[in-house]
Amino acid sequence: MSTPLADLLIRRIRQDGPISLADYMTECLLHPEHGYYATRDPFGAAGDFITAPEISQMFGELIGLALAQSWMDQGCPDRFVLAELGPGRGTLMADILRATKAVPGFHAACCVHLVEASATLRVIQRDSLSGYDVSWHSDLGALPDAPLWLVANEFFDALPIRQFERSENGWRERLVHVGADGRLGFGLTAETRFEMLEHRMDDTKPGDIVETCASAASISDSVSQKIARYGGAALFVDYGDWRSLGDTFQAVKAQAFHDPFESPGQADLTAHVDFETIATACACAHSRVTPQGVFLERLGITQRAQALARGLSGEALDAHIAAHRRLTHPEEMGNLFKIMALYPEGQTPLPGLNG
Ligand code: SAH
Repeated sequence: MSTPLADLLIRRIRQDGPISLADYMTECLLHPEHGYYATRDPFGAAGDFITAPEISQMFGELIGLALAQSWMDQGCPDRFVLAELGPGRGTLMADILRATKAVPGFHAACCVHLVEASATLRVIQRDSLSGYDVSWHSDLGALPDAPLWLVANEFFDALPIRQFERSENGWRERLVHVGADGRLGFGLTAETRFEMLEHRMDDTKPGDIVETCASAASISDSVSQKIARYGGAALFVDYGDWRSLGDTFQAVKAQAFHDPFESPGQADLTAHVDFETIATACACAHSRVTPQGVFLERLGITQRAQALARGLSGEALDAHIAAHRRLTHPEEMGNLFKIMALYPEGQTPLPGLNG
């Protein structure tokens, strides 16, 4: 399908040459007029995909209490930033704030900061968080200098990646070009050696694809610098694993996989998160990468699910039981999604995670 963004990109590539996959993702997701996030609310059963906070309130409640415990473990600083990267509909932050209301001093000490690129989603977030004093930023660099407790769920997977195909003695980058049929697709550069990929020459063979995400490294660096300097913790939840190997670039539309070049700007584009990149760039301590199901069980999701179930019956109870399973079961989100926390050297990691 031709979209206004496809026409624009085809014109640009014909004029200036192929673009990196990272540039393609950035345009498709964040182009101010035609970008996926800039123009819609993609979440929920009627949308393109559904995320953990939209599945059940239990997700945000348990994360809220884990953050509050970490704040107490670090001596309850009397002023801190509670931040979220890519808050979607604002549901996770609303659940965190509701669950922590009863934690003495927590709300009085926190100021809420959201980093969100989409003007459309900011309006929805304002609605979800009405009654709270919230500041919005386009960039992490604008967060105040203070102790920082930060969450990001399904944020890193939306960051732009580059892809490289291993050749005999180096790498050929996969660039987005216009094919002979006049459509967008992948083309390969000539073989080059890349300093940043030298360490991957040993664990790959010709034909393998590896992915890099420079913005994940730079975000990990900025967040961890603040945590090392002022205290706090960050909790990153995403699908992926320790080290990326293979092509994980994908498009999702109407809850189904889609050709990523078919309708630029109208499908969600993501890639699996390479947690090693986040760990390597991190200037403070980080926890082990832990499956979401294990993390939520350790935080007591089953007890919370049982407590909530007592007030439910019929279809609502069935939906609640299904939501619990969806978040935790290894065949659903329990294993695919991973958690990693950043925290100051010498402190304990967040509850539910090991150092
Ligand atoms: N955390 C939410 C939404 C995940 S979708 C949830 O779990 O439901 C990704 C979110 O990140 C969206 O809010 C999107 O607009 C935002 N986003 C994507 N790239 C961004 C960027 N570079 N800077 C800031 N926000 C970004």
